[in-house]
Amino acid sequence: MRIDLHTHSTVSDGRGAPAQVMREAAEAGLDIVALTDHDSTDGWEEAAAEADRLGLGFVPGIEVSAKDRWVSIHMLAYWPRGDDAALAEILARTREARVGRARTMVERIAVDYALEWEDVVARSGDAATVGRPHIADAMVARGHFASRDEVFVEVLANRSRYYVHHYAPDVHEAVRAIRAAGGVPVFAHPGAHARGRVVPDSVIASLAKAGLAGLEVDHRDHDASQVERLAALAGRHGLIRTGSSDYHGTGKPNRLGENLTSVAAYEALVAQRA
Ligand code: AMP
Ligand code: FE
Ligand code: FE
Ligand code: ZN
Repeated sequence: MRIDLHTHSTVSDGRGAPAQVMREAAEAGLDIVALTDHDSTDGWEEAAAEADRLGLGFVPGIEVSAKDRWVSIHMLAYWPRGDDAALAEILARTREARVGRARTMVERIAVDYALEWEDVVARSGDAATVGRPHIADAMVARGHFASRDEVFVEVLANRSRYYVHHYAPDVHEAVRAIRAAGGVPVFAHPGAHARGRVVPDSVIASLAKAGLAGLEVDHRDHDASQVERLAALAGRHGLIRTGSSDYHGTGKPNRLGENLTSVAAYEALVAQRA
């Protein structure tokens, strides 16, 4: 069984429509795949229908933006009820804040590069969730850089002077809201220190008490020492160890199925679905 529990579509910052991601997942030989767009459930229906047609197991998910004080955290949520009002409210507030934040970043960038908000709108299309990758795409379209990755290095990094924060719920609040919606929360790439700060062991211990179900241990942004640290933490706190690709289509080098979740881990997640 090949199980990949973290992918993105054009609903957020992936490059393929939800149905396209499902077709690619089937072609990659996956048996079960989760669609986990940032802060939105908009892709679920289309993805579920296509997965059904392909005989592919589908897990509806969200990658919820959250924070611990000033550290940005991504919390995967599997099978939360899409109509849960409290969770929907948090996601809507984040999506809205992301638009204002992206506009401010564009204003700052426009001091040094030819770039307008309309360029970003042209790239984000009908995405529910606007993010830095859309600004990157706009800058590539303008000819300033050759790839998303180059723009992240030169302009969009967390430590860059163009960077602007956006509202996101406290991570403990996010975990509780996901549980209250019947979902299963898994901390996405918790040791990806190249992206910015990572939280210490104490925060993971505290989240485990608040209802965290698992850690995404196997992820390309983790070096060997982080995998070792996180696997040990998962063992110590009874957290489920998952692995995933974090696929963004052509927007990132990540390939579907490059990291996988074991059947035992998957069944442990299913057992916690409320
Ligand atoms: P945001 O959520 O708007 O702060 O943007 C963060 C998103 O940018 C993450 O979800 C990543 O998918 C994406 N990202 C981060 N670094 C890179 C990179 N070097 N190349 C492409 N995408 C990236
Ligand atoms: Fe992303
Ligand atoms: Fe993420
Ligand atoms: Zn992701």
